[in-house]
Amino acid sequence: MQIMTRSCVFCLVLIVMLLSLPAVARDKYAAARQGMLESIEAHVKETSLYLDKEALNPSVMKVMGRVPRHEFVPSAQKRFAYENRPLPIGHGQTISQPYIVALMTDLLKVTADSRVLEVGTGSGYQAAILAELVDSVYTIEIIKPLAEQARERLQRLAYNNVHVRTGDGYYGWTEHMPFDVIIVTAAASHVPPPLIEQLKPGGRMVIPVGSRFMTQELLLISKQQDGKLVTRQILPVMFVPLTGGH
Ligand code: SAH
Repeated sequence: MQIMTRSCVFCLVLIVMLLSLPAVARDKYAAARQGMLESIEAHVKETSLYLDKEALNPSVMKVMGRVPRHEFVPSAQKRFAYENRPLPIGHGQTISQPYIVALMTDLLKVTADSRVLEVGTGSGYQAAILAELVDSVYTIEIIKPLAEQARERLQRLAYNNVHVRTGDGYYGWTEHMPFDVIIVTAAASHVPPPLIEQLKPGGRMVIPVGSRFMTQELLLISKQQDGKLVTRQILPVMFVPLTGGH
């Protein structure tokens, strides 16, 4: 009886100790995620001439350090989840490189009340990063099983402000327009006119434009209050193509 009591006390002490460990220590990917942040920082410095800055917005880096990328990749890819490179997610598609996700998020300059449209949900990772920073994210994926998986995953991870739709994102999402920012995460041959139309005056769009299967140019398009567009070329990138019937 006495032995029982002693082991119970021991268990209790152990539980209390475990619970008082910081969350970081209990997250087995914490160190890898920190490594990813360092790799992004280094990459930003290397490309600072393109970006016109030495570091990304700290609030963007903070969410990059919080969102569990390993939850957005297939099991076989989990051990690579925090490497700074794209990974296959099935159906011939990829989850973008963390540096690109961070950079595109930074370029959008979102605020807490932003309404965001994403074209190309893929795994849902970019949508989750944005969802941590803004009011609502509307995201469209053309491959049905990917859209369904992403919806389920985002729900499980409690990203209740992300709305996923299966469809061709070229045409945007008219029911929820206009958007403060639009992000396209597949390479387009041109900027889709419906997306320009659905962007608010004063809004920003980030989109890779160029030929399929070759490098494209990442563009930052700002819509002025009078509707005029100002386009800035950021840097060469490589995305999977924007498909669909357009
Ligand atoms: N943002 C994603 C990665 C995107 S990969 C992530 O964080 O994981 C590009 C995605 O765009 C692919 O899943 C592809 O199926 C999708 N896509 C391609 N053309 C599309 C279109 N016309 N409309 C919507 N999605 C499209």
